[in-house]
Parts: sequence; C-alpha cells; structure tokens
Amino acid sequence: MNPYGFRKWVVGVEEKVPLINGKRVIGINFDNGATTPPLVSVMAAVNRFVPWYSSVHRGTGYKSRLSSQIYEDGRKVVCDFVGADPKRDVVIFTNNTTQAINKAAKKLGEKGGKEVVLSTAMEHHSNDLPWRDKFHVDYVGIDGDGRLDMEDLERKLKKYEGKVKLVTMTGASNVSGYINPIHKAARMAHQYGAKIFIDGAQLVPHTYVDMKSHRDPEHIDFLAFSAHKLYAPFGIGVLIGPKEVFLGEPSSDPGGGTVKFVTHDEVVWNDPPQNEEGGSPNVIGVIALIQAIKTLSEIGMHTIEAYERQLTAYTIYRLSQIPDIEIYGDIYNIKDRLGIISFNIRGVSHQVTALSLSYEGGIAVRNGCFCAHPYIQKLLKMSKEEVKAYVKDETRTRPGMVRISLGLYNTFHEIDRLAALLERIVRNKK
Ligand code: PLP
Repeated sequence: MNPYGFRKWVVGVEEKVPLINGKRVIGINFDNGATTPPLVSVMAAVNRFVPWYSSVHRGTGYKSRLSSQIYEDGRKVVCDFVGADPKRDVVIFTNNTTQAINKAAKKLGEKGGKEVVLSTAMEHHSNDLPWRDKFHVDYVGIDGDGRLDMEDLERKLKKYEGKVKLVTMTGASNVSGYINPIHKAARMAHQYGAKIFIDGAQLVPHTYVDMKSHRDPEHIDFLAFSAHKLYAPFGIGVLIGPKEVFLGEPSSDPGGGTVKFVTHDEVVWNDPPQNEEGGSPNVIGVIALIQAIKTLSEIGMHTIEAYERQLTAYTIYRLSQIPDIEIYGDIYNIKDRLGIISFNIRGVSHQVTALSLSYEGGIAVRNGCFCAHPYIQKLLKMSKEEVKAYVKDETRTRPGMVRISLGLYNTFHEIDRLAALLERIVRNKK
C-alpha cells in the first residue's frame, strides 16, 4: 500500500497555522503521542449515530435499546482487537487510560496495603501515582540507554518473592518510544505468582497487541488504553482484566447502574462490567472507538507498524545528522522504538525550540517532561542534588525535552521540513 494513502483516512492532518511572515504555511502535527486527530470514518460513524442515540440500559424505547445493544457489542470488538478472551476477561469502558488505571488500583489494593506493585522507572505518572496509595511500590530500573532493565525486574521479583501482587509497565514509553518486552515480562511475573498490567496508551495505537490466552504463561492480565490516542475523540478509554477480579464490591465508581438492588442498609452489586461503570455511559465515545478499531484493523496494524517504523528510522537519521542535536535513547538499534523521538538542541531551551518550530514553521510538537518526571530526570542524567533543588524551588525553569510523536498519516516530506527548520534554529543560535 502506498504509505501516503494513509493521509486520506484522517481528518485535520494539518496543524492549524496563522500566516507566517505573511505567507500561508501548511502546518504539521507531530504531537500524536498526546492526542491523534480523528479518522474520517470515525467522524462519519458519529454523525450517522447522533440522531439515533439514547440512554444506555435505561429505556425501553427503540433508540435506547439500539444504543444499549451497540454499546454492549462494542466490548467484543475491543476483545478481538487486542486478543482478550471475552469469556474470561471483562471490558470496562472508562474515560481514559488514567481512569482505567485508577479503577484497577482501587479494585486490587487496600488503603495502606502491604502488598507490592513493581512499576518501572519509565512510567507516565498515570501508571505510577494511582498505585502508591494502596501498595508498596518499587521501581524496576533502566539501563544506560534508557531501556527497561529486565535483570532488575527479575532481581526485584526475587527480592519481594511472594509479596508482589502486580507488575505494571508501559507497553511503550511516551518519552523514548521504547517498546517494552511485555510478554517476556509477563512470563517472569507469572513465574513469581504476580499478575501483569500493561499501560497500552502508547503501544496499542501503533502496533498489534495480543493479550494471549490465559493458558499461555506470556499472557497479559490487564490492559488499558485511550481512544483519543487511537484516532477517536476524548472521553472514552478501556480497562480489560479478568472478570473475577472485578466481581462484587467495592465499586470504584458507585452509583446508578452499578447495582442490582439497594435498600438503605444493603446493596446488591451488579456483575462486572456494570458494577464499575457508574452513571450514564458514553455511547457516542464507544461508537467512535469501535469505528476507529475497525478502520485501523482494515488498514492492518502490521502495515501501520511497518510504515511508522520506516518513518521513525528516517526521522532519527535526519535529526542525527544535525550538529548539536542530542536524541535521547539508542539511535543505532531502533527495532524496539515507536515513532516517539525526544531531543534537545545543545544551548537552546526545550521551550524555545518547540515555540520556534511552531511560530516559524507551523510545526506542532510537545516540550517539557511529558508527565514522566522521574524518567526524564534519568535520561537527562540529573544528579540527586539537582532533582532535589527542583523539588525545593518550584520557580526554577523546568528541565525537559522536545518530543516528536508520529502518526500513521505523517510523511517523509514533513520530516524533511522539520529537519530543515531545526538546521536553521541550530545555525541561528551561533
Ligand atoms: N500512559 C501513557 C504511556 C501515556 O502516554 C498517557 C498519556 O499521554 C497516559 C498513560 C494517560 O493517558 P490519558 O491522558 O488518556 O489518561
């Protein structure tokens, strides 16, 4: 398939840009790690459905029954997309990945609990902070290139033998783009009697993810991801996990729809997933998510992955040719890297670089710490003292990086424009 053909599948692929030096410039969006623009088919599906939607599970009218049916059928589509088992696993619709992880943490842990969760040094805060309240959290380290240290995972599993309830890790880093060996980690976790949770926010939109059968020692127990990074709009995400874990109380979102029967003294909780989906559900969000999944599957996740890999290699090659650009992570062996590339120009702050790209070239990127402060501190090789100084003095200019995150519709030509502008920024700093 002609890779440029992907462009027509997506709405609003161009960043919106005012005139630059009096000229119209076609903008470029390299901020897909934060949020992707929607697919054409997703917009069409939502528009088609809007006149038909009504409250899910609450009405007997035709529109209500139709909405309920579509909403429930959506769970099976999600299961098929990531190889979950609809008999054993439950698909809980959430607002986003963050809410999904918070739900799992609330369900699995006890306040002030003594059980251990092994997280990693490369997590987004959304897969770190929710676990801290209910578990003793320890962090698996990274190696010199910023990759997950699998030997350290094994060491920590041994150190806490019998106490580790869960190993949780991102499927792919939102800073370095490294894809973690999730199935190898799953095998290790299971050997030590722990379950594994994968934060799929970055991984699921860019590669084929297979949770695998529960009988396979490499299966993934829990998976979470967000639709707004998967070419569908905000407000809908997914939590998948073994049904039995979510049975009964407590519900992490108690309220309408989560119960079978209530008196002022007693509550008979609904079965999962209903007991975890308090309030009126987001059926439009589910329509959008399901359409996104169908269209991406039609293009083929392997096809998307192969194209984005070429684009990533080209981006790293072009950037590495520019003097004074430091790319974080391994730039020689990139087989395990998604299209997320973080860098700095020596002598130019990350903020100035990002703003120059926007104001001078209409190129949208992100800069800062990308909600992964501890990982950024490690990649920037900050000393403990330096980190402490930031904790003490909130007014200090924050450290950070510039991040390019690619989507399936980005092109080689766009990378050339990025490289040309970066070259100019580097030239002008002297
Ligand atoms: N996990 C990772 C790796 C992310 O990159 C993000 C968002 O950038 C999240 C979790 C949180 O996703 P959301 O904001 O959709 O909850």
